[in-house]
Amino acid sequence: MKNKKLFLMPFLLIILLIAGCSNGSVAEQSVLENAKESKTITWGVKADTKLFGLTDVRDGQQKGFDVDMAKLITKKILGKDGKAKFVTVTSQSRIPLLKNGNIDAIIATMTNTPERSKIVDFSNSYFDAGQSLLVPDNSPIKTTADLKNKTVLGVVGSNSVENIKKVAPDAKVLQLQDYAQAMSALKSGQGDALTTDNGILYGMAVQNKGFKVVGGTFTKEPYSIAVNKDQRDFVKAANKAIKEIEASGEYNELIKKWFGDVPKFNYKELYR
Ligand code: GLU
Repeated sequence: MKNKKLFLMPFLLIILLIAGCSNGSVAEQSVLENAKESKTITWGVKADTKLFGLTDVRDGQQKGFDVDMAKLITKKILGKDGKAKFVTVTSQSRIPLLKNGNIDAIIATMTNTPERSKIVDFSNSYFDAGQSLLVPDNSPIKTTADLKNKTVLGVVGSNSVENIKKVAPDAKVLQLQDYAQAMSALKSGQGDALTTDNGILYGMAVQNKGFKVVGGTFTKEPYSIAVNKDQRDFVKAANKAIKEIEASGEYNELIKKWFGDVPKFNYKELYR
């Protein structure tokens, strides 16, 4: 009898191994089911982007519109005991971190583009941005037409660095690792302008005296939550949550909280 058990052991091990493998990699499992079980959603958020996702040095917490949206959406999906966990991403690292299962979803100033839709799935848009320019107060640059032979700063992994080449083909584009570094480069005169979405630039203008947002918005940047391909149930749940947040007025409260005091920013245009 004992011998028979020993004899069966290797077979049992093989069956267990096969069962384990059939669950697939973390990125292939149902994010929604896992979140419901663990009562947690792990979000990729920015830590370098004031107004959307910025680390508060006083308590080490990331704060901003994206972070608050993630908290609200988590409660709508998982109920009031649901927890939102945050992992720092940059424009460059957000898709790789999603792909290898380090985060469940991205909510990080990320534009829903057809290119990106080939590799991730997007929720409905939850914020309407548009690309613009940040320049020193005394700069002669007023629009993208003034960028001829100028150096424009951007961030790796951001679509702004591609967009700017289309509207200002004669400009030189310099790509930095994140928005903190891009702002330092602008301050130290390594570029004539910094380009990304208007909301992000207004956040920089609040943080850094002597800079202004110019050029209007020359692209449309609808922000969406991104999840891995084939996570349609999570996308559905997120879309439902966004709708509820808009209908309840919580959305407009968040817009007012984060953008209401930003000088020269018409935040009421963002109301839904
Ligand atoms: N929304 C643009 C993008 O997704 C620029 C902001 C960013 O770098 O996150 O690329």
